[in-house]
Parts: sequence; structure tokens; C-alpha cells
Amino acid sequence: MTDPAANRTNPKEAAPALPPLPRLLAGQKALVTGANSGIGKAVALALAEAGADVGVNYVVNPEQAEEVATAARAFGGAARIYQADVSNEAQVAAMFESFVIDFGALDILVANAGLQRDASIARMTLDDWNKVLSVNLTGQFLCARAAIAQFRKQGDSRRVSRARGKIIDMSSVHQMIPWAGHVNYAASKGGVMMMMQSLAQECAPDRIRINSIAPGAIRTPINHDAWATQEAYDKLMALIPYGRIGEPEDIGKVAAWLASDYCDYIVGATLFVDGGMTLYPGFADNG
Ligand code: NAD
Repeated sequence: MTDPAANRTNPKEAAPALPPLPRLLAGQKALVTGANSGIGKAVALALAEAGADVGVNYVVNPEQAEEVATAARAFGGAARIYQADVSNEAQVAAMFESFVIDFGALDILVANAGLQRDASIARMTLDDWNKVLSVNLTGQFLCARAAIAQFRKQGDSRRVSRARGKIIDMSSVHQMIPWAGHVNYAASKGGVMMMMQSLAQECAPDRIRINSIAPGAIRTPINHDAWATQEAYDKLMALIPYGRIGEPEDIGKVAAWLASDYCDYIVGATLFVDGGMTLYPGFADNG
């Protein structure tokens, strides 16, 4: 058995794989944005493992998206890839239209696509600011608007889930923890929080469930510098009481569960999946 403490000192060692998922989402149709890498890929695979047919959105690197779709099909369902820049209104509209033509319906959207353009305020350009806000916040708005319109159109015609539709927004612990040198990113995720809650309030009467997942530090390309060297990893561990970095699968499996009817009464919530990062471990010895 792997010593869980090993992850505290060894950046190369991934946490052991999680147990397989039951078929919580059988017959459901799910679209995941930014699904050819990192967390989005793990979410697409977990939804497929749970029985959903999946759409794998990507903006660049179609071959990575095709690999994810192939791996998703191995769970027995259908999977297709969709190119769209989530910050582009026309491309988002075309993606949702194609998805519904291909799959006949939409039951789950995981709005995951996101990026960072880090700089101190003295060096941050307007382009850095606009780019991050347009993908991380406007992209989630455009995808949520399209998904909600489709859920409303379907009404009660679907019988695959208690809710008429589910949206999971990929937020971050930085919807809550301020982040110097990343003002664009933190502002985008703070915006995701209020967008998610306001949409959840507006759409709950239609039985559309909207929630967020707020990951802590997950081992993906977006934060490579925070875990790739021993020194960086040790510094990161000071922020994570649970003593290991998160793996993409930690988020994927939670997304499948949150989209399932086991979570039917969860509406407008943010689920922090962060190994305790939002417990502010810097205060642990100061009680
Ligand atoms: P990643 O870089 O591996 O994946 C990001 C994905 O978004 C990629 O597939 C990328 O191509 C896609 N993307 C970027 N711009 C896009 C656009 N305009 N249109 C469509 N897709 C686009 O990083 P990740 O860590 O997997 O990040 C996924 C989400 O999780 C992001 O929203 C990120 O903010 C969030 N998150 C990540 C962490 C972490 O520690 N990795 C922590 C908190 C939140």
C-alpha cells in the first residue's frame, strides 16, 4: 500500500487511483469545455465512466481531444469532439447546435475551459486582463446561456434525471482566496462565483441545477511551475493540510457525482475540492 505521506515529499508520485464509478449518469448527454487537457479531460472520462455520452470541447490540439474521445468510448458510450473558442459567441452557438444535432439532447454542461496570464499589476497589460476575463468568465456565461436555453427547450421531455439539466462551473479556491500577481484570474473566478449563484437562483424554478467546483492545486499544465520541482512542491505543500497535490481524477469523480441525482438537492453551491487549502493552514500553529 502506498504511504499517503509519500506525496508530501515526492512531487513525482501521484495519489493512488480512485475506485471505479457506478453508472450514475446512464443515458445522459454531457458537454465538457476545455476537455482535451488536465481537469476537463478527467471530467469527460469520469462522466463517460458513469455512463454519459460526452462531447469533448477543445480550441487547439484536436489530436488530444480525439484521444480523450477514444478513451471515453472505451467505457461503452458515444463521444465526439467539438472545436470552439468559448469566448466567441458564434462558435459557442455552433458548438451547442452541433452537439444537439449529434446527441439529440443536452443534460449536463461542465464549463471548465480556463487559462491564466499572470503578472504583477505593474506589468499586467489590458490584453492579459481581457483575455482571462473573456475565457474564464464570459466563456462560462456564453456556455451557460446556451445550455439553459436547451434545457428549457427540452422541458420535461427527458426522463434521465430529476433535474431538467445540470451545469457545473469550474471555479477555483481563488474565488475566495485573494491571489497577488494573478488579479485577472482571481477576479474571473470571483465573477464565476456570483454568476453561478445568480444563475442558480434564476433557473432553479425550472429545475435546472447550477453549481461550481472550486479546485485547489491540481496537477495539470496550468500550474506546472507550482509542482514540477522539489522546491516548488515543498512550498506548495505548506498550503495543503492533506499533504498531497490533487490529481485531475480527484475533480473528475466529484463532477460525475455532483451531476448525478445523488446531488439533486444541491443548488447554487460551491464544492471546494482542495485538500483543505481553504482552511488557511498558515493559522494552524497560531491558535
Ligand atoms: P489546462 O491548461 O490543463 O486546461 C485548460 C483547458 O482549457 C485546455 O484544454 C485549454 O485548451 C482550454 N481552453 C483555454 N482557452 C480556451 C478557449 N478560449 N476555449 C476553449 N477552451 C479553452 O488546465 P486545468 O488545470 O485543467 O484547468 C481547467 C479549469 O480548472 C480552469 O478553469 C482552471 O481555472 C480551473 N482550475 C485549475 C486548478 C489547478 O490547480 N489545475 C485549480 C483551480 C481551478
